Amino acid sequence: MAALMLPRRLPFLLALLSSTLMTSCQQASVDDLLAPGVSRDLAKHRRARIQDLHYRLHFRMVPGMEAVEGRLQLQFQLLQGGEDLALDFDGELLPQWRCNGAEMALADMQQVANHWMLPAASLQPGMNQVEFGFRSKVAATGTPLNVYRDEEDGGEYYYTLVVPADAHRLFPCFDQPDLKAKFEFSIEAPTDWQVVANGPLLDRQAVGEGRHRHDFQASKPISTYLMAFAAGPFEVTEPPVGGDLPFRIWHRASAGEAMQVADLTEMHLQTVQLLEQDFQVPYPFEKLDVVLLPGFPYGGMEHPGCIFYRESALVFDHTPTAQELLRRSTLIYHEVSHQWFGNLVTMEWFDDLWLKEGFATFIGYQVLQRREPELQGWLRFHQRVKPPAYQVDATPGTVPVYQELGNLFDAKSNYGPIVYNKAPSMLKALHALLGDKAFFDGVHRFLVDHAWDNATWEDLILALQEASGRDLQAWSERWLLTAGMPKVRAHWQEDVRGRLQSFQLQQEGLQGQAHPWPMQVDLLWQPEGAAAEILEIPLQEFEQEVEALVGQATPAWLLLNAKDRAYGRFLLDPVSRRRLAEELPEIEDPMIREVAFTAMVDALWEGEWNPRKFVQAAEKLLGFDGEGRDLQPRLADALSHSRVLQAALLACHRFLQGDEAKAHFQYLLHLTMQLPLPPELKLPAFRTMARYGSDAWFLDLCRDAARQGHLEGGPELGTRDRFLAAAVLLAHGDPEAETLLAELEADESLQDRQKYAFMARAASPDPAQKQRTFEAYLQLSEPPEQWIQLSLEFFHWPGQEELCFPYLRQALDRVLWVKEHRKIFFMPAWIDAFINAHSSPQALEVVEDFLQANPDLPLDVRRKLWQSTDRLRRVLQARQRFP
Ligand SMILES: [Zn+2]
Repeated sequence: MAALMLPRRLPFLLALLSSTLMTSCQQASVDDLLAPGVSRDLAKHRRARIQDLHYRLHFRMVPGMEAVEGRLQLQFQLLQGGEDLALDFDGELLPQWRCNGAEMALADMQQVANHWMLPAASLQPGMNQVEFGFRSKVAATGTPLNVYRDEEDGGEYYYTLVVPADAHRLFPCFDQPDLKAKFEFSIEAPTDWQVVANGPLLDRQAVGEGRHRHDFQASKPISTYLMAFAAGPFEVTEPPVGGDLPFRIWHRASAGEAMQVADLTEMHLQTVQLLEQDFQVPYPFEKLDVVLLPGFPYGGMEHPGCIFYRESALVFDHTPTAQELLRRSTLIYHEVSHQWFGNLVTMEWFDDLWLKEGFATFIGYQVLQRREPELQGWLRFHQRVKPPAYQVDATPGTVPVYQELGNLFDAKSNYGPIVYNKAPSMLKALHALLGDKAFFDGVHRFLVDHAWDNATWEDLILALQEASGRDLQAWSERWLLTAGMPKVRAHWQEDVRGRLQSFQLQQEGLQGQAHPWPMQVDLLWQPEGAAAEILEIPLQEFEQEVEALVGQATPAWLLLNAKDRAYGRFLLDPVSRRRLAEELPEIEDPMIREVAFTAMVDALWEGEWNPRKFVQAAEKLLGFDGEGRDLQPRLADALSHSRVLQAALLACHRFLQGDEAKAHFQYLLHLTMQLPLPPELKLPAFRTMARYGSDAWFLDLCRDAARQGHLEGGPELGTRDRFLAAAVLLAHGDPEAETLLAELEADESLQDRQKYAFMARAASPDPAQKQRTFEAYLQLSEPPEQWIQLSLEFFHWPGQEELCFPYLRQALDRVLWVKEHRKIFFMPAWIDAFINAHSSPQALEVVEDFLQANPDLPLDVRRKLWQSTDRLRRVLQARQRFP
């Protein structure tokens, strides 16, 4: 197919973009340029003047250090001289520095916020070289170089984590994604430590008593947010069977035994092979190291050539459940995909964060579908990826997939379900629209055209348009540049003979948006007593007649988006909802059953369905078939079983009250913990149920589980599960709880027991303990951020709403501190945990008062508050409607 003649850029869309982007560099004031952080204007200004960057970085690693000493030699080409050049740094510079060979003093540079102005007079057109000595802080959390002090093996594990814009808090740099550079590390560390970085290790030499220097090859050109190294008493496992690509796993010695080396190796290397075929672009880097870090705040971070993972995401201290294996697979595939999407081709600015995150998730599920077809990748995509997107996109706090961003200081707030969950859903819809061949031809073109460089969403759409010959302008405007989503429903009228007189599909913006969304709706049509069929209906307008159905017999029920290719809230009509509530357990096609269940969850949150009816339908689905020894749960798939159980429990907890809720909890507890559930369902069910069970027999079960390390007659438990069981006892004031916790804490066979003890103690109903836990949340020295995030749901144990209530306002009052000092995903998790622990009008009042009292709250924080408050508001409305 001939390529369309298209302009290099898409000017029609530019008009929609912000005035920030329209501001030319020349018009930007000095204040804008040098605002704290890195402004878009400063980034553009520098990008036009600098290229060929090369950072030579030396770090001196010393056990127990609270600051790291470093030296930088930075080379760059200046295209245009004549003015001071801002270098970003937020640490301590040593008094002497050098510029193009000349000795300089700190007083020779002006400092504006976190920018140091290299004086124009000492710079020259062409190559320049500056040299600095510096010191920057090291802590367990809140710093770009983090340390994990392992209380069990006494080791200290140091690692950098500078995404999205914290590199300048570690060393002086031009901290923006579109000034890619080569990074050449030289790292001095104790002799018994290992050091890993982006580039391959060139040389390791003794430098004095008990110390070695590790010199690394310069990396390929990468963005500052991707530079990385880690150092500590790691063990390095090199799998016996590798490939052409050097592959090693870096880990704590204690993780070695449980680590499934062959699986981890295959998962990484086969993904590399699959993606090389799909993209027709070779793996871009010289090697692939995988570094497993305890307490790492994210599941993984895709640093080029050395992916960092949270150790517990890849290594299990028990037989892993289907959920844990699925999470591990999708995490690995996601991070490996980033080596192309994000690392080889990087977004120009974090407004296009979705480009890398959307692709990594979408491609990750593609790999899952092909490598592990038995896991039914697209069904899991529907269960795991879409719900968080819908949850945020339905609220007034939602944002477009492409998110304007004036300053990297706020870049953390661009992370969230819209880029991680909606963006891959958009790519899935695009893939369905264009077909596999055109889609991957376009992807190939995009990767080749922008390799080792940066790109924008317009570049991607252009490549896909050229490959497919289709015009994607209207699609992009609606799905990438506009916030929100539609709710879609079918509407019909029948005549006296039960035949359709008219049939329409209708869509409406969830936040009253004034435009329709273009989409392809798969309508499942189930006639009474006959086989179902699926019709594909393109929907462009708010309301659309479907002529082909006029004259047909009224269906028994129908379901929109049956193949899950479209994105939106697809609601059930009352007739279909009634029938499906009865017949859902009989539906055999897992995707159709899952989509129908999603539509029921939507009906609940849209306030269209009595929560009692929802809970009953879910209980029916979770129930058992047959009698006596043939007793089998209706839902045999562990992931589907968990999803329905969680939805049922949440609905009871938030929408129902008192004895009514308690009766349902007891019934669900009976269904999952007393009846003979297969082992693959039992452990996930225990993990979900634990927060809601309070019967005496269940507390006994928890006591045994914590002590014995397995569920009765069932699966073995990990350390976390045993502490969870102890937390249940603690939360219910059981007299043995403290002794039990102390026993677990003293058991040296339990890995990471301090972390889990911290988590469990958060569930204590003792007000003094609650206060201590809350105070620990706001420290920087200890505990690691990941421990806090893990404990938030224990802090808000069901039944402790009153005790936790005063902390809601306190947590909101500290939100700006949290935004500044914690890593990417923490602030939304913080806000959400404190707000959605409550289902009372008083909690809503607290949030509203806080918003009113803080009219200057930044928009990104305000939006996160709107996102989280939306669910509380919906709960209160439904409770009023269905008392
Ligand atoms: Zn990612």
